[in-house]
Amino acid sequence: MKSRTKVVVIGGGIAGCSTLYHLTQEGWSDVVLVERDELTSGTTWHSAAQVTNFGMNQTMVGLKTHSINLYKELAEDPDYPINYHHGDGGIRLANTEAQMQGYRHFTSMARGMDVEFEVIDAEECARRHPLISTDNLIGGLWDPMDGDIDPAQLCQALARRARNAGAEVYRNTPVTGLIQHKDDTWTVETTKGNIDCDIVVNACGYRVNEVASMMGVHHPVASMEHQYFLTEEIPAIRDAGHRMPLLRCPISDYYCRQEKNGLLVGFYEQDCKTWGMDGIDPNFVNALCPDDLDRVTDVLEGAFERMPALMETGIHTVVNGPITYTIDGAPLVGPIPGKRNAYCIIGLRAGLGEGGGHGWLLAQQIVQGEAQYDTWCIDPRRFGPHSNVELTALKAIEDYQNEFRFHFPHEHRPAGRNARTTPVTPVMAAEGAEFTVVNGWERVDYIKPSADFHPSLSFDFDEAFDLVAAEVKNVQENVGLCEVNGFNRFEITGSDAAAFLDRMFCGRTPKKAGRVGLGYLLNQHGMVKGEATLANLPASDRGPDRIWYGSAAASELHDMDWLQAHLHRDEDVQIKSLTNDQTILVLAGPRARAVLSACARGDWSKEGFPWLSARECFIGYAPATVLGVSFSGELAYEIHVPNASLYAAYQALREAGETHGLKLFGARAVDAMRMEMGFLHWKADLITEFDPFETGLDRFVKLDKPEFIGKEALTARVEAGPTKRLVSLEVDCRKSPAHPGASLMLDGKVVGTVTSGDWGHRVTQNLAYAFVDPDLAGHGTDMSLDHYGAQVSARVIAPCPYDPDFTRMRS
Ligand SMILES: Cc1cc2nc3c(=O)[nH]c(=O)nc-3n(C[C@H](O)[C@H](O)[C@H](O)COP(=O)(O)OP(=O)(O)OC[C@H]3O[C@@H](n4cnc5c(N)ncnc54)[C@H](O)[C@@H]3O)c2cc1C
Repeated sequence: MKSRTKVVVIGGGIAGCSTLYHLTQEGWSDVVLVERDELTSGTTWHSAAQVTNFGMNQTMVGLKTHSINLYKELAEDPDYPINYHHGDGGIRLANTEAQMQGYRHFTSMARGMDVEFEVIDAEECARRHPLISTDNLIGGLWDPMDGDIDPAQLCQALARRARNAGAEVYRNTPVTGLIQHKDDTWTVETTKGNIDCDIVVNACGYRVNEVASMMGVHHPVASMEHQYFLTEEIPAIRDAGHRMPLLRCPISDYYCRQEKNGLLVGFYEQDCKTWGMDGIDPNFVNALCPDDLDRVTDVLEGAFERMPALMETGIHTVVNGPITYTIDGAPLVGPIPGKRNAYCIIGLRAGLGEGGGHGWLLAQQIVQGEAQYDTWCIDPRRFGPHSNVELTALKAIEDYQNEFRFHFPHEHRPAGRNARTTPVTPVMAAEGAEFTVVNGWERVDYIKPSADFHPSLSFDFDEAFDLVAAEVKNVQENVGLCEVNGFNRFEITGSDAAAFLDRMFCGRTPKKAGRVGLGYLLNQHGMVKGEATLANLPASDRGPDRIWYGSAAASELHDMDWLQAHLHRDEDVQIKSLTNDQTILVLAGPRARAVLSACARGDWSKEGFPWLSARECFIGYAPATVLGVSFSGELAYEIHVPNASLYAAYQALREAGETHGLKLFGARAVDAMRMEMGFLHWKADLITEFDPFETGLDRFVKLDKPEFIGKEALTARVEAGPTKRLVSLEVDCRKSPAHPGASLMLDGKVVGTVTSGDWGHRVTQNLAYAFVDPDLAGHGTDMSLDHYGAQVSARVIAPCPYDPDFTRMRS
């Protein structure tokens, strides 16, 4: 066994084998995999191993396409062929029009990744799958690439290729300890000796947290018991002359594929069961949980009704094994929050289908610092520190129960709610607030007219449309109050703080005390990594000279990691998170100044406190820091208040606002208004697949600065010219917004992808942002949007249709 190597991958299931193989593909051959037992002795050995191309965003579709292409290549390798039923095809069933609309959207989205799904009616479903009945069926989504693979052969093939490229695999070698040294390298302790390495990767399946605890962390991953059975031979399958397509059913929560001349049917029962919550027997190796078909009777009946042939067939084997889930159902693939040189590829609930792609994107992250797709949807840092064992288990149960029921826009499911609230959350709930969830935070979405108001789940504009319109109108004409909780905020101090931030941001940073600026962080490849508001606060009785760094609520762990990773050891810079200590109340609208003046001492006139100013003050008797910034396009103030004083500040503002028509507004109104101003959202419009010029952020880049992260790469990109450009679009449809991922078409070809869409109530236009081919970015260019299966006109318009000169927010 080597005593030193570059990377140690811990765990020899599909996750570990794929990572090892792809590291060698990236050119790193001094890498090893350490497995406690034999390869594939965790979940992988008993997997149903279906390999679908279906995903709910382009990153997931792209990585699954990689799996499919790789598996096909492995299957066809004459030196080591493996069993892969490629391209049997698969149907996701639907019994509501809303599900069908979702499938049409996913079809439009996948088209942008060169993947052609098809939405078919019930008769066509039955024609392609002769065993199913069309009762209570409207249709389905057809995935032509669906299939299944032999999981053990797949892992052996990947390990074999990795070994051929120089990697080593140590079986029967449990990792027993992990020690990180001052220079961020690691020692991996095993029963057979120690291995020093630069980087460790946790790929330990359901034992993820045994290994995580060795490095002092905990991952939000929980295991569920999951069962399938195998039937005896079914004559109709034997005689069909072709393989049966796969089925996935959101109506009765089962999947089904052909196995020999019978069927394999797996279940996601409502009466489901977590597994291993109090520790896992060390001898649970190549093992299964006891069969419990009674538990799945609810969904079994649905499967029998859909496929009557099952009623005449015997069951010969039941498989019940642990399967891992995370808080949102997607895995955790990437850097481990708060650690250096440590990665994970865990929480895979569809690891056979996805594993090839996840290992590919992880290896790119490890070797190149970033993957070719934006990987935020699988980033381990997307959940905040609130994600403990209980919350994870509750969300895992909910995800499991809804396995094939995709989330609709604005859908927030009930498990694990109220994980993060502020003192005014219950107050606003009593005022009729409906909440959305952002990184665990309950944030007001809109104010509902009655407690029993529940808009339908749909991709169309829903019944809250008029409520949002009224909130926007009040902000436009009077003044609105909105709580933005969970906004990520770091206090950065120290004599090197200014120089450090100057290096981190690609544009100007506010050097003058009392000023605010917006800035962008790039990665080493010159691509957009982050966005932050910087407020330069002078020394006061509340603290020394400091910069407040504010960014999206979801970026809490991501941004901290990024800043810490670039801090030089000899720099005098301290970064302290205030995210859980302070909350923002946004006051927006032409009468905002009058309200602020009525409850806070000082000169708040345009001259006394111009746009982009920052000042400490009191709102009534609540200490506050006010920033003159706007995300709505109206005159607005961000009022940052310590949570202990939040209710007092809220009451003072409400009271002061009474005579000015102050009303609450929520996140939906904010989102609609930002679309009219050309303002972008992190990880919707601001992604690592594009540079700041492609994203239209030219005015925030200073290429003549001596140094900033990504400068060299960005300069080279500028010379090469843009691959895409972000544009604003007017969509010719009043019924439904463009949804992220939808494809823009011209002459039958995909020419762009939507990143955001919403109705602009003040401009009365259906607005969208999209990255399109650069030659189509000119104002007035017409394209068509693949809009839930219909082609509707989408025209490029000026980026800020409401107030291009920002006159209202500067007023
Ligand atoms: C019944 C069932 C059906 C499924 N069907 C499908 C399907 O149809 N399609 C699909 O895509 N997915 C399916 N899945 C999910 C899929 O099987 C898993 O996502 C996948 O196998 C997880 O692989 P993994 O490598 O992450 O974990 P594992 O296969 O569990 O591998 C983890 C490895 O880490 C090793 N390890 C743990 N601790 C240590 C240590 N301390 N030192 C060294 N090594 C260690 C373990 O021994 C193990 O080999 C199914 C799962 C179940 C239970």
